[in-house]
Amino acid sequence: MKAAPFAYVRPGSLEETVAELSRDGAKVLAGGQSLVPVLAMRLGRPSQLVDINAVPELDQLTSRDGALRVGATVRQRRLQNDDLSARVPLLRLALPWIGHREIRSRGTVCGSIAHADPSAELPAVASCLEATMVLTSARGRREVAAGDFFSGALSTAAEPDELLTEVSFPAAGPGEGFGFGEFARRHGDFALAGVAVRVTAGDGDRPTARATCFGVSDVPVSADVSERLGAALDRTGAAPARADLHRALGDLMEEVALDVVDTGGDSHASPAYRRRLVAALLAREIARAYADATRSREGSTS
Ligand SMILES: Cc1cc2nc3c(=O)[nH]c(=O)nc-3n(C[C@H](O)[C@H](O)[C@H](O)COP(=O)(O)OP(=O)(O)OC[C@H]3O[C@@H](n4cnc5c(N)ncnc54)[C@H](O)[C@@H]3O)c2cc1C
Repeated sequence: MKAAPFAYVRPGSLEETVAELSRDGAKVLAGGQSLVPVLAMRLGRPSQLVDINAVPELDQLTSRDGALRVGATVRQRRLQNDDLSARVPLLRLALPWIGHREIRSRGTVCGSIAHADPSAELPAVASCLEATMVLTSARGRREVAAGDFFSGALSTAAEPDELLTEVSFPAAGPGEGFGFGEFARRHGDFALAGVAVRVTAGDGDRPTARATCFGVSDVPVSADVSERLGAALDRTGAAPARADLHRALGDLMEEVALDVVDTGGDSHASPAYRRRLVAALLAREIARAYADATRSREGSTS
């Protein structure tokens, strides 16, 4: 099948881009890795594609004010290979799981977040870290928190005339640790289920832990799992071997999986199988993130 006819424009400035996007039926073309298949299968019929790849200010990758700011045309592979991504370790853990190198060489970070596939890695990372989305249109600029951005499968709070110009990810602080894991039938396939985890180990305080699960609902689902991590540490003691904490978290994560998995299942996996995957991944990745967080806290105080 071929794509339905469409007009194509390649503006050279942000001002021109948002003017073109305000036309009825206009759609952003970034890396094309999701949009082109959608066009080829005629699942979408935009009247005009606005190619954003010639707008210099959208190609910015910067670190300031405690955040990593990723512009609209920054490729996934560029971020993966850039030293700046070390400031957001969860991104470093997640990026290699996206498709294959060729996909990451063209696909953009913002494009993946704007596309909002429920099984995609980057929306989950953005949700776990409570990233900020910057949207720009001819009407102005606004910021939307990740928690308010994903509204359903392949749908977000962005209006059709709005461009996701930047995503701002908070840089990791001392005492923070991260975990990321997913299960797919073949490496590079979309995940059947996956988890992103952030643990903060404060001085003397109980650790806090936030987990975001993907591939299990229409949107990434986040849960505060601090109490359950605390309950596991009551069983193991405050400085457990990772394997012991992993074991202690096992049954506690089964309860979390019951809450977060709300898909009716599909030809790839039943809800019950996804719950088992989520529970196993959460236990493993929270144990990993806790070990990482305590190392980071000790490194910052020595
Ligand atoms: C074989 C294959 C395997 C893949 N595997 C994975 C995987 O495992 N995990 C994963 O997460 N993804 C996977 N992808 C998708 C890939 O990550 C895409 O790159 C990504 O989903 C979209 O980014 P893009 O820059 O290519 O956007 P495009 O394809 O250009 O656009 C996608 C959609 O987002 C909109 N859009 C893009 N950028 C913006 C913006 N800045 N502002 C507003 N709207 C915008 C477009 O209008 C379009 O609707 C795979 C793709 C392929 C072809």
